[in-house]
Amino acid sequence: MQYDHIVIRYGELSLKGRNRKLFTTQLQQNVISAIREFPNTRVQKKRDRMYIVLNGENPEPIMERCRYIFGIQSLSLAIKVENDEEKIKENALALLKQANPTTFKVTTRRSFKDFPIGSQQFNQVLGGYLLVNTENITVDVHNPDLEIVVDIREDATYLTSAKILGAGGLPVGSSGKSLLLLSGGIDSPVAGYQAMKRGVELEAIHFHSPPYTSERAKEKVLDLAEKLTYYGKSIKVHIIPFTALQQKIHREVPHGYSMTVMRRMMMRISEAVAQKENILSLITGESLGQVASQTMESMHAINAVTNYPVIRPLVAMNKDEIIAISQQINMYSISIRPYEDCCTVFVPRSPKTKPRLEKVEQFENAIDFSQDIEDILNNIETVTISADNQSSDQLDDLL
Ligand code: ATP
Ligand code: MG
Repeated sequence: MQYDHIVIRYGELSLKGRNRKLFTTQLQQNVISAIREFPNTRVQKKRDRMYIVLNGENPEPIMERCRYIFGIQSLSLAIKVENDEEKIKENALALLKQANPTTFKVTTRRSFKDFPIGSQQFNQVLGGYLLVNTENITVDVHNPDLEIVVDIREDATYLTSAKILGAGGLPVGSSGKSLLLLSGGIDSPVAGYQAMKRGVELEAIHFHSPPYTSERAKEKVLDLAEKLTYYGKSIKVHIIPFTALQQKIHREVPHGYSMTVMRRMMMRISEAVAQKENILSLITGESLGQVASQTMESMHAINAVTNYPVIRPLVAMNKDEIIAISQQINMYSISIRPYEDCCTVFVPRSPKTKPRLEKVEQFENAIDFSQDIEDILNNIETVTISADNQSSDQLDDLL
């Protein structure tokens, strides 16, 4: 017996009313793209579920790959059979023998009402047949080792057994695009991942200050972005030449306030890039109270330069919770590579933890930054990390 299909269930998607088609179409595209290294597969979209037709491909690595696609609630291997009592019996028996459990139960769902036997009755018919044709296997309706689900639909009957949990959330791309401030630390990649879970497609922006920060630090960020593409789509990374502006801030702003000013510059530049790319929001890895720049006062002073929504998926999370996700999604080993970030290099010994907005504005107004910002915006390096680069070695990491 050979499984020939994978059933994909949408879960939350089914709640989405009129937008439903948009979501399922996006999910179908994302599934097709995620399993493109299995060229014989086909992805069929139905109203309430999707089927991957395996056409002879090995189901295991495909199941494993699909577990990381947002918008999927659960997955099962399936055998597609004609709507014919004998064929169903024959295949269910093969499935049971292959799984070889101690106890089982049959659950029939008959959405195709022309099938001549009702669901309750078919549970008994098939259960009885399976009992007669096997040894040492019994029925347990409450807590069976194996549940055989017989889904009788108009086009065919699908036999499934184990259900594997999917990643949940919404298909990446179904909630629009956001610009992730990606630092190379532990937090921001996790923030990006969490936003993707809610259907957000990402572009990323990284502030780079050579020679204070090395090529390696930049590579690290590109590696993180590449990992992120595994969970969604290709990602454009905008590398911002930040050195001159940071030096000027360092020279001309009182040190207690330089960090606040630097952050505000990051926000302004991020907003300008977002606007140019038709992106409507920013994402950061900030978590309340974690460091000096993440106090309520700091956030207030930094946020004041933008009207864009700033999404902070980690705002209420503890560091150990963030690290746990980082490890789970394979980012951690990259994030802890020891290359300096532009913020660490220029961070003053004692940054104000409670900066006052009027003071920051006063310091900034005394300096003309407009040319510096313009120079930066004219010299951005943009790298597109294609989701196609994701090969099976990434899959190996996860297995
Ligand atoms: P992370 O672990 O993400 O680096 P962090 O705990 O080091 O965060 P901060 O240094 O205060 O905290 O940075 C807060 C957020 O600002 C980051 O999560 C990120 O979104 C953004 N950020 C900081 N540095 C950079 C940078 N060089 N380029 C782009 N974004 C940055
Ligand atoms: Mg950092």
